[in-house]
Amino acid sequence: MDATILVNRTHRLPRKAIPQTLVEPEIIFDAPVGDRKRLLAVSAAKGVEALFARGKEEGIYLCGVSGYRSYERQEELYQKKRREQPKETGDPVHWIAPPGASEHQTGLALDVSCQAVDYQLDERFGETREGRWLKRCAPLYGFILRYPKGKEHITGYGWEPWHIRYVTRSLALYLTLTGLTLEEYYEQK
Ligand SMILES: [Zn+2]
Repeated sequence: MDATILVNRTHRLPRKAIPQTLVEPEIIFDAPVGDRKRLLAVSAAKGVEALFARGKEEGIYLCGVSGYRSYERQEELYQKKRREQPKETGDPVHWIAPPGASEHQTGLALDVSCQAVDYQLDERFGETREGRWLKRCAPLYGFILRYPKGKEHITGYGWEPWHIRYVTRSLALYLTLTGLTLEEYYEQK
């Protein structure tokens, strides 16, 4: 899969879209050894190793929580959610991603957290020193914060300060300078 691929609720991946090579980056994970959540596409794995290593030099200790997720796994999570809450209510940006609509299927996305918020994935992470550092430095290593505040209706997802997506360094820097989401970038093209 191309590192700049657009995946969202309207641009869905087929079941058979599986990253060619998945590897486990050498970073700290809050996930059991052997769990497929610890896998990433090669380019994203290299980028995140360099990003986290830079953080460490600056006293910023980030932790990987969830990387690769297969179509089937997303389907399971989606079905489970639908059983618990048969009717999707409220704002669609807060609905769980249906299978094929999650970027985690590309192996290019990683959910990140830190000790200050007990390794949870919630909005509090965005206010931590680690969360602010991640937002500032991720683009230097090819990652963007994919679901920013205020762009929920463009991305189709709520604000997620913990979700980083590898898009290559040049595109990450371009999107950061212009303030565009990946959706807006593709619309412009
Ligand atoms: Zn995520």
